[in-house]
Amino acid sequence: VENETAYIERLKTIGEMAAGVAHEIRNPMTTVKGFLQLLAQDKNEQKNHHIFKLMVEELDRANEIITEFLDLSKNKPSIAQVTNINSIIKSLLPLLETRALKENKLILPNLSDTVDLSINRNEVRQLLLNMVNNALEAMTDNGVCYIETFTDKYENVCLVIKDEGNGICPSITKKLGTPFVSTKESGTGLGMSICYSIAERNNATIDFTTGSKGTTFTICFKSK
Ligand code: ADP
Ligand code: MG
Repeated sequence: VENETAYIERLKTIGEMAAGVAHEIRNPMTTVKGFLQLLAQDKNEQKNHHIFKLMVEELDRANEIITEFLDLSKNKPSIAQVTNINSIIKSLLPLLETRALKENKLILPNLSDTVDLSINRNEVRQLLLNMVNNALEAMTDNGVCYIETFTDKYENVCLVIKDEGNGICPSITKKLGTPFVSTKESGTGLGMSICYSIAERNNATIDFTTGSKGTTFTICFKSK
């Protein structure tokens, strides 16, 4: 049995290698995408137009996964800005609500006044987006996703994302946040690991409760 230090060292090496490989895969993908776009303009290929479109979209998707993975493995320090969590939520609401409505679901915000935080706006935005996406994906029609903010007794600013889905699959609750752990057919399994890494970089903790009636994530930001 490997000891913990050796294990962490090995994970780090694998991570660095994977980041290198991910980066190298991008170049041939860019070339293929360029040729596909050229071919798509060919008059004789007009009947296959939708196929070219699909191929380019799939390449873009693969590229997105690589971007997420590289962001994750960089673990770069955040540049903090003085910002209010509620303003991040408000700026994302139109996007989230549009997405929810398309799927016959609802987003219900309930924001209370909180002190400004020293956090990275883009990162926290990404965390919120990843978690609300998961919440929406966990629910069937008419499900409600609640987004709340409050201040706890330690003066931490807390963000709550609560859904009415059927809970996190017991086989993965302990592994939540490990890259590539997903129960979805076309999931990347990167969303939660990105959330954990963002929380760590922004002095926040993530807790959750989950059961057959839904899942509640609470992200607590240290305010001092
Ligand atoms: P992905 O969404 O691509 O599968 P994530 O890292 O975002 O990857 O999530 C990992 C897994 O955690 C999901 O596949 C799902 O099984 C589980 N999960 C995350 N959030 C929720 C939630 N709100 N309700 C139920 N399951 C969830
Ligand atoms: Mg996800």
